[in-house]
Amino acid sequence: MKTCTKCGSPNDESLTKCARCGARLPRTPATRASASRPSETPPVKNPIGLTVLATVLFPPFGIMAIINAAQVSGWYQTGQIDHAKETAALARRWAQAGIITGLLADTALVIAANLL
Ligand SMILES: [Zn+2]
Repeated sequence: MKTCTKCGSPNDESLTKCARCGARLPRTPATRASASRPSETPPVKNPIGLTVLATVLFPPFGIMAIINAAQVSGWYQTGQIDHAKETAALARRWAQAGIITGLLADTALVIAANLL
């Protein structure tokens, strides 16, 4: 038996790729120490902080960012790392757009308030 280092599922010795997540399996059976604790945090950077800030500043874009950010770990857990990275990048773009729009809108309101 080989234990997948990504998802921790057992695989037949003859397999080169994990039957569950498709990750490449090590040639020698994984040691218990490295296999017992598969990494919980995705290597994909998920811009959670940005999405929260965007939601505060400009909710419509912030919510789009959160929807995308929420899908990142799901893609990662199913082995679709590229999709996880794309979704994280999309979440970051929505968040940045929300932050910029929110700041501009606030600035415009402050200017308008001072002019009136
Ligand atoms: Zn696996």
